[in-house]
Amino acid sequence: MNDAMPLPLYAIGLGSNRRHARYGDPRRVLLAALAALESEDVEAVDASPIIASDPIGPSRRRYANAVALVASELAPPEMLARLQAIEARFGRRAGQRWGARTLDLDILLWSGGAWSDAALTIPHPALTDRAFVLGPLRAIVPEWRHPLSSHSIRQLAARLVRPKPVDRCVPAH
Ligand code: ATP
Ligand code: MG
Ligand code: MG
Repeated sequence: MNDAMPLPLYAIGLGSNRRHARYGDPRRVLLAALAALESEDVEAVDASPIIASDPIGPSRRRYANAVALVASELAPPEMLARLQAIEARFGRRAGQRWGARTLDLDILLWSGGAWSDAALTIPHPALTDRAFVLGPLRAIVPEWRHPLSSHSIRQLAARLVRPKPVDRCVPAH
């Protein structure tokens, strides 16, 4: 163990829109999931407040969302496998994309920068479009820069809420 080398950091997005028989409502599911993320080789560093957000996709249930910051020596594919094992423990079945689900754990950012293979893309591709991700992220890592665009999380979050111009057409002369 080399104390001089800081461990890589991961920002993990947590979402739930379904009760769990033991843990209760989605907020409590996230509290239990935050605890479940910690292990011998995954250290909890920080966690955002839990927010309630409107559903995306076909489900009409509201979501509880949060972001956790963890430090771990695990490589990105190992971290993804770890997250999927926790999702399964919370009763998530495959094929529930955007539907009612007990727990969704996504890798949002990794201090190693970008990663791309058939099963895993970091930064998470939808990160910059999602207020329910950028809001909690800004609460814990506002200065973290997106490795592809170099914008800070604070800038990306501000850009998302700024109203878009209705009409930018230059009148023809
Ligand atoms: P979204 O990606 O839009 O948030 P989702 O989280 O509901 O959708 P899942 O069903 O949880 O999607 O995952 C689908 C697949 O996405 C997973 O099997 C995984 O291989 C892949 N994936 C790619 N990049 C990531 C990432 N950064 N974090 C988590 N899963 C990822
Ligand atoms: Mg997701
Ligand atoms: Mg997911």
